[in-house]
Amino acid sequence: MKRSTPTVRVGSVALGGGEPVRVQSMTNTDTADAAATARQVAELARAGSEIVRITVNDEAAARAVPEIRMRLEDEGLDVPLVGDFHFNGHLLLARFPEMARTLDKYRINPGTVGARAGAAGNFRTMVEAALEHGKPVRIGGNWGSLDQALLAEIMDANARRPEPKTAHEVLLETLVVSVLRSAELAEEIGLARDRIVLSAKVSAPADLWLVYRELAKSPYALHLGLTEAGMGDRGVVFSAAAVAPLLAEGIGDTLRVSLTPVPGEPRTREVEVAKEILQAVGARRFAPSVSACPGCGRTTSTFFQELAQEVSRYLALKMDAWRARYPGVEELKVAVMGCVVNGPGESKHADVGISLPGSGEAPRAPVYVDGELYTTLSGEGIPEQFVQILEEYVERRFGAGAGG
Ligand code: SF4
Repeated sequence: MKRSTPTVRVGSVALGGGEPVRVQSMTNTDTADAAATARQVAELARAGSEIVRITVNDEAAARAVPEIRMRLEDEGLDVPLVGDFHFNGHLLLARFPEMARTLDKYRINPGTVGARAGAAGNFRTMVEAALEHGKPVRIGGNWGSLDQALLAEIMDANARRPEPKTAHEVLLETLVVSVLRSAELAEEIGLARDRIVLSAKVSAPADLWLVYRELAKSPYALHLGLTEAGMGDRGVVFSAAAVAPLLAEGIGDTLRVSLTPVPGEPRTREVEVAKEILQAVGARRFAPSVSACPGCGRTTSTFFQELAQEVSRYLALKMDAWRARYPGVEELKVAVMGCVVNGPGESKHADVGISLPGSGEAPRAPVYVDGELYTTLSGEGIPEQFVQILEEYVERRFGAGAGG
């Protein structure tokens, strides 16, 4: 059950309220290099990132923002851009009004907004810039950059409790309090609730559950993500393990997966992973799903693995064209199974499924469509014939004449 929050408009995209959980990502280019940053934003957007964040860390980066937007417009992309500010955001937003106007949202980290004595002042300046330019903000805390004065204050209060929390628990509490207090302050300054998104990122899944279940008691839209998830399988698994239970509870209005790219890996990987997670928990549908069995001693050749890979690749290749031509095609379920044990059963649960012959079985591959045996394939051309059946099914079910 999704939490009830205000709908927050971030440029051309809405999040929170009844909107789907939005995919977002962040560039790792030097923002001052407008050409490279615009190129990467475009790649991320085309991969499915509905919002893209860029760091705005100095004057050169601030100056580049309007050019980045212009380059994206030249490519026909209106993906919302979020400026990530730390330490000097209050100065940059005041000195570069065109940058402030161009960005669609400002990320403010209460832990890096400035020295405590001046924090309210710096924070106020940033919120006032958001008010002046009609932008939403994300108040985004991170346990790696906690407000140290607030931590000391809560540590002192904790020491006076009859049953003090552990230092780690106090740290998480501080992160939540920091973000919530900042949100209240933003409202006092005049920012409406539908202009505020919160996040409080930590790097351990169990900590994330604790922190976000607390944040979920607030009325604000939430940006979800595990920070510093790591690289490769570790990053993917930790991210999925961290955010899936929360998403299943309806917590999270936008998701960013923070992967450290393996050298040579495209930045778009984090977008692909975010989409897979959202699809796995049933929050979004982006592409047809292909179920395949893991294979075992009954599959002595790699034929069925190759077929599963070929079908997945084929679907990915077709999706851009299919999305426009066949509305709802994302719902398609395909199964590629290795033998007669679970093959026919799983294939019948899919829209289109094939059960390949395992070792010792007759060299025939029954194909099931909508739960019924449709045909039995054999011989050399099984992959081509199966893809042809898929094409015909998609046209029949999702094409212009479907349902007539
Ligand atoms: S469906 Fe057959 S090949 Fe696949 S894992 Fe099960 S028993 Fe093994």
